[in-house]
Amino acid sequence: MPNPDLDASHDVSRRSWVTGANHVGTDFPIQNLPFGIFRAPAHAGAPRGGVAIGDCILDVSAVASLLGEAQSIAHLLAAPTLQPLMSQSPSAWTALRLSLSNVLAAGRGEQGQVERHLHPIATAEMFLPARPGGFVDFFASIQHATNAGRIFRPDAPLLPNYKYVPIGYNGRVSTISVSRGVRRPCGQTRAAGQDTPLFGPSRRLDFETELGVFLGGHSVQGTPVSLAQAWDHVFGFCLLNDWSARDIQAWEYQPLGPFLGKSFSTTVSPWVVTADALRPFRTSVRLRPAGDPMPLAYLADKEDQANGAVDIMLETKLATARMRREENRPILLGRASTRELYWSVGQLVAHHTSNGCSIEAGDLYGSGTVSGDDKNSLGSLLEITRAGEAALELPGGEWRTFLEDGDEVTITGRCVRDGFVPIGFGCCAGRILPALAG
Ligand code: MN
Repeated sequence: MPNPDLDASHDVSRRSWVTGANHVGTDFPIQNLPFGIFRAPAHAGAPRGGVAIGDCILDVSAVASLLGEAQSIAHLLAAPTLQPLMSQSPSAWTALRLSLSNVLAAGRGEQGQVERHLHPIATAEMFLPARPGGFVDFFASIQHATNAGRIFRPDAPLLPNYKYVPIGYNGRVSTISVSRGVRRPCGQTRAAGQDTPLFGPSRRLDFETELGVFLGGHSVQGTPVSLAQAWDHVFGFCLLNDWSARDIQAWEYQPLGPFLGKSFSTTVSPWVVTADALRPFRTSVRLRPAGDPMPLAYLADKEDQANGAVDIMLETKLATARMRREENRPILLGRASTRELYWSVGQLVAHHTSNGCSIEAGDLYGSGTVSGDDKNSLGSLLEITRAGEAALELPGGEWRTFLEDGDEVTITGRCVRDGFVPIGFGCCAGRILPALAG
């Protein structure tokens, strides 16, 4: 049955004259076209918006005159942030993406004019896609909530609000980056059996594998966004690592939630895969187990339940300094799909705005750690090593409970579905740098 939400940009037979876009296994075929902020060596000036195609980046504003009705929207990509584009409407996003797909499609006459505005991804510098005005980190995976809860509160792993409230906290915006070095934080920690805390470098530094959501448009303060309208505010998705110092977190988190245990650094992937590109990979929200309460009315919508999840397979890998030195390949720590999340992206938007809180273009959500049902689908070391009780053996004879200096964590994401060209997210990588003091 033809899907009315799809257009020529999703066509499985569409190929690009950019040959790298047609290679099997590329994250960036012509069916993807994610947006990012880049600076090529050829550009002396400010960073600008581009779209990834195969192993290249197209400088979008430079080809604006070839994009027909999308020309004025394409000019917004001359900015060093995607916020002007994100503040447009979904129809403008769709029009720009379709016109870019058209000029990059094989057999089109514009190749000669477009080609000179392509730059190799390999030599480009990438920047944060947008500077969010707000960052909310949610807790949408019930498997993660249960696993983590069991460690922090063995007697009550899942708090009674979980199945009613999409739990989140307001995170730190200024420390979000696409950079690759993550400084080990110092902070207050209290060792088991001790009465008083000490100040020093975190010894339980962890990653959290998450899906990031960049919001678009804006909503009026005081007016909630309904679940039915929520996707009008979803510009696109990235990979996100919510680095967490578990020892700082454990000592500080009650009663007001995470603070310094998470605010020191958040890493995102530089490419934003649009909601449009993900249309073929939308699917039903995972059924609530029998006996779970139904969501309250403002979080309940049949269409959202039927089509509100996105099937993105996230993989997290680890390479230690020694593994790199000995040329061992990174090991897979976990693999889980975002389709398993208990709360849908639409429900996160509806809940976040339900009290009248407004959203602005460029606002960022983290889904919360994405963990699945089995031991190979966990999205944090807290879960994998059960808070350090079950050390993980690495190739070359090393062991890990939490991250050591020099460890590099890399998250990738890919969407695969029969009848469609697979698309990917690039990667979100960070390497732990030693603490400065303490
Ligand atoms: Mn998190």
